[in-house]
Amino acid sequence: MLLLCFGACAQTESSRAEFALGTVCSVTLFDQSRDRVYRDIFSRIHEIENLMSVNIPASDVSRINAAAGIEPVQVHDDVYKVIERAVYFARLSGGAFDPSVGPLVSLWGIGTDTPRLPSQKEIDEILPLINWQDVELDPHTRSVFLRRTGMALDLGGIAKGYAADEAAAIVKNSNVKRAIIDLGGNIVICGEKKDKSPWRAGIQNPGYNRGDIMGIVNITAEHSRAQTVVTSGVYERFFEENGGRFHHIFSPFQGYPADNGLLSVTVISHNSMDADALSTAVFVLGYEKGMALIEAFPGAEAVFVFEDKTVRTTNGVKFALTDNMFRLVQE
Ligand code: AMP
Ligand code: MG
Repeated sequence: MLLLCFGACAQTESSRAEFALGTVCSVTLFDQSRDRVYRDIFSRIHEIENLMSVNIPASDVSRINAAAGIEPVQVHDDVYKVIERAVYFARLSGGAFDPSVGPLVSLWGIGTDTPRLPSQKEIDEILPLINWQDVELDPHTRSVFLRRTGMALDLGGIAKGYAADEAAAIVKNSNVKRAIIDLGGNIVICGEKKDKSPWRAGIQNPGYNRGDIMGIVNITAEHSRAQTVVTSGVYERFFEENGGRFHHIFSPFQGYPADNGLLSVTVISHNSMDADALSTAVFVLGYEKGMALIEAFPGAEAVFVFEDKTVRTTNGVKFALTDNMFRLVQE
């Protein structure tokens, strides 16, 4: 996912990028460069990373994981909110989205320097640990308990969306009229374009290099109501072994990367945390069930890109193909 700025938004913007949440986070504030707003946004993003990253031993999520099967852990409000929402989407998706996917993420090591294809035995051993119903939330003490030893949360499918919403809230409370927040493909657009024309968000060509797009979605955002565009795709993180290609979005049922003919799912909505969880959930569910989930979710639209190079969308998306290798199917 990337945002296209054809002419109209070029002149006066400034952009800043930092590495956080395991990805490049870039923020563009239009009209004027505003140091304080940039500082506030990036410190908020780093704060969220420090609370939620499983790669930071002192993070709240690492503390929850270390206490799995032992005791509940009191957490920061941000963490509680995100886990609560993650569990909500786990229930809504029948477990396709599952924040307790941590042991699978570690077993496969996708995105690390040492990814590997595990044996069926290894997968079978950890599958019983992947179960959102064993994530116990106590709203009174704001604590989280993983019931079984060996369980581990991984908020990689939802935390970037939350961080993007929090960054957008900072923009909303500032005098900056328009902004683009792009946390590794989790995009939030705040405000209207100067000439009032729609923003144009490019959808990454899943088979090619980062930066190549295969289509464009038109997005209309207002200052008071941001819009978000979030993609889950096979190309984000993967490795190759024995002639197979293994990506980072797992079926919690099989223990393998979800394999149902989809290359990417893009969700367009108002809330980036929800869109983030939805895009991951829908990617795991596949087209039919995923489409049903999106259609039942107020305000959400989606674009599905398939391995056979067909593209399908929900009815409310303003989508145009830019790459004639793909074919738009209207049903
Ligand atoms: P996304 O790019 O938002 O689709 O999220 C993918 C990331 O979410 C992965 O890198 C994992 O950290 C995590 N993840 C993988 N599979 C799942 C799943 N089935 N449910 C929830 N999170 C997942
Ligand atoms: Mg996601």
